[in-house]
Amino acid sequence: MTDCIFCRIVSGEIKGDLVYQDESVTAFRDVNPQAPVHVLIVPNTHIASIATLGDAELSQRLLAAAVRIAETEGLSHGFRLVTNTGPDAGQSVPHLHWHLLGGRPFGWPPG
Ligand code: AMP
Repeated sequence: MTDCIFCRIVSGEIKGDLVYQDESVTAFRDVNPQAPVHVLIVPNTHIASIATLGDAELSQRLLAAAVRIAETEGLSHGFRLVTNTGPDAGQSVPHLHWHLLGGRPFGWPPG
């Protein structure tokens, strides 16, 4: 989708701070990090949110990439993996993305 910022990062049209890319998944650092490590993990194809993902293999690839990146980023004390879905959750970019957050303690429940 040409008007989707994350599609443009995946294609390389817009430069992202990439930490991982393969044929189905791209991961890049969030421009407005909420923790010392804040990486977004996205499918290379345009899917609006996890609510419309419906692809078990791609879902598994996204999660496996997140766990691998947590390891390579040294998050041995733990991390948080979040995907905001829809307006109530505050999703601002309508291209599915997992937030991988780590490097500090997090409170619960989230705000
Ligand atoms: P959400 O509000 O859950 O949809 O998360 C969207 C995230 O995308 C926010 O944390 C933004 O800081 C991040 N973001 C928006 N534009 C970019 C960009 N060009 N590169 C990296 N992260 C971005």
